[in-house]
Amino acid sequence: MAEKICVAVRLRPPVSQETSSGTFWRVEDNRISLHKLHGTPISGISYAFDYVFDETCSNAKVYELLTKDVIHAAVDGFNGTAFAYGQTSSGKTFTMNGSPNDPGIIHRAVNDIFWKIQMISDREFLIRVSYMEIYNEEINDLFAVENQKLQIHESLERGIFVAGLREEIVNNAEQVIKLLESGEVNRHFGETNMNVRSSRSHTIFRMVIESKGIDSRSSGDYSSSDAIRVSVLNLVDLAGSERIAKTGAGGVRLKEGKYINKSLMVLGNVINKLSNGAKQRAHIPYRDSKLTRILQTALGGNAKTSIICTLAPEEVHVEETKGTLLFASRAK
Ligand code: ADP
Ligand code: MG
Repeated sequence: MAEKICVAVRLRPPVSQETSSGTFWRVEDNRISLHKLHGTPISGISYAFDYVFDETCSNAKVYELLTKDVIHAAVDGFNGTAFAYGQTSSGKTFTMNGSPNDPGIIHRAVNDIFWKIQMISDREFLIRVSYMEIYNEEINDLFAVENQKLQIHESLERGIFVAGLREEIVNNAEQVIKLLESGEVNRHFGETNMNVRSSRSHTIFRMVIESKGIDSRSSGDYSSSDAIRVSVLNLVDLAGSERIAKTGAGGVRLKEGKYINKSLMVLGNVINKLSNGAKQRAHIPYRDSKLTRILQTALGGNAKTSIICTLAPEEVHVEETKGTLLFASRAK
């Protein structure tokens, strides 16, 4: 993966026995196109990405092809972010968290990181993790329920950070998985409908990987392997991208929808500007949403980013799917 932003789409298997009357999505190599049922392509609705994963693709393969390089680069000192974007029920959480027989990207990343650092004998690692959700532009700590409505600050020493967010020092993958499970419980705290809440908030699982060279020579001078490296890795399960009008909701749902639409739009703009970076030295609107502000350090500069846009294959979702493909194509 030479490119800094790698974009993939993933079609999940159909969940309902819908009898499609008109159209279906066809995947060929790295292209996805909308076809009429008897086979002719519908002109104009055809997109190519770095990868297009069809409904038979496993999380193992998604990790291997799309995300592994971002994770390995993070161990080597480069910031990174991996996102899942898509409408509710399209497979974001399946991709990030996985299932018992096919663990998702987060699980695989955590295992891979601990496996990798244990192979590096000339550096000493310190790994910290945190887990937060952004709900209605409010940041809540998923490791500590009492930490709600946290603020973003910036300082010379720490860069951009979420004040008061709990960070846990971790020594092995099992410990991280346990913490994540406890975080999931907190996420649902006080919610009557867990699915509703989780589809309305962005969740960011963050690992900070710090390392220092261990040099046998105890001379005072620093060789390059002595230098301290710090990298930030964000694994992000975004709120559902569906337009709110469809749910026909007012009140709370409407408010949530407005916040979601805005932050996803800002994210789209930021990524679009970054991916066109060489062409236009434009102002990048990180400050327009909490999500992009939190991710700022691990999106720009030398950071590596992978985006997986998940798609629901059913015909009832065709308009949302087109919207997701547009988002994905703006990220390329
Ligand atoms: P989202 O997080 O985008 O709302 P989910 O990940 O919860 O969507 O997926 C909705 C349903 O579809 C879940 O029951 C999930 O297990 C299933 N699912 C999603 N993607 C896949 C896939 N690639 N293979 C098998 N089942 C999937
Ligand atoms: Mg989900």
